[in-house]
Amino acid sequence: MPGRVASLPPALRATLAEIFGPGVDDVRVIEHSWIACLHIRAIATTRRRRIYLRGAAGPFFVHPDIVLHEYFHVLGQWEPRRLTVWKYAVEFFRRGYWDNRFEIEAREFAEDHRHRYCALLARHEAAQGTHNA
Ligand SMILES: [Zn+2]
Repeated sequence: MPGRVASLPPALRATLAEIFGPGVDDVRVIEHSWIACLHIRAIATTRRRRIYLRGAAGPFFVHPDIVLHEYFHVLGQWEPRRLTVWKYAVEFFRRGYWDNRFEIEAREFAEDHRHRYCALLARHEAAQGTHNA
């Protein structure tokens, strides 16, 4: 499957824009991506301005930790060029997946911003009348 660009639910987009700034609009979320399938254990794989999902975007969007984690890879690491394919590979071979600094940093960011993210998302969903019970 070639992959398809998913559209962000408006409340989610507004929430991410408050946390990450307007750069969120430059990020494309691509569903059913073969690139993500190459990475055996990954739900998602990131590149500059791209989040490639193995499956559909719907189940991805409902997980605050994963959404924050992947957007952080893109906007906090790829975008300022702190993360490159080469740097990631070096870290990965040195420390593996869990202990490499890019993953540690993304996990910490997700943890630190989780509560604010959920509060913002609830507020935006309520404002837009899109809250899912
Ligand atoms: Zn990660």
